[in-house]
Amino acid sequence: MTWLSNAARLALRGGAFARPNWLFWLDFILYPLLAIGLVVRDCDALGWRWAGLAAAGFLGFTLLEYWMHRLPLHGLLYHGSHERHHTHPAEYVVFPIWYTPPIFAGAWMVLSVAPFVGFIIGYCWFLVWHHVLHHADLNRFPSAVRRYALWHLAHHHDPGCNFGITLPLWDYLFGTWRAAPQSGGRA
Ligand SMILES: [Zn+2]
Ligand SMILES: [Zn+2]
Repeated sequence: MTWLSNAARLALRGGAFARPNWLFWLDFILYPLLAIGLVVRDCDALGWRWAGLAAAGFLGFTLLEYWMHRLPLHGLLYHGSHERHHTHPAEYVVFPIWYTPPIFAGAWMVLSVAPFVGFIIGYCWFLVWHHVLHHADLNRFPSAVRRYALWHLAHHHDPGCNFGITLPLWDYLFGTWRAAPQSGGRA
């Protein structure tokens, strides 16, 4: 039963490990399914207006991501899985399972379906992109995509800049943007 207590501890406290396990992939599966389910449920309303609202929700997620990363994760909550991620960026990090559900529950309460779906897509994009940029060989990427990845790696070298992971926009607006290094490979 050791694996059960380890899984429970990891789920409640979060952590980092050398190989991914099912907890690491959980959000990669659950949130896309949630987004697909909501789109299917709302299919009668799909159209340009719906897409615009979803784009606004996506943007809202990127703004929240910027401030969550800049304030709690580099403030009160730094000495946990985020510090571990900064010192061992190639490890597989999971947040405690109670981190994200309250954020999504709050977003669900204030947003209609379309922006909520955009918000979820923002989170999915964050999950996938952050995973890829730390685990893929960036030298194989087209140069524009590689610069986009290196831009986050600059944050790992200087934790006072480039807090946005999905979009550089908020770093430009809030004065924390720094140019990506010209070269680099795996984190
Ligand atoms: Zn990172
Ligand atoms: Zn950070």
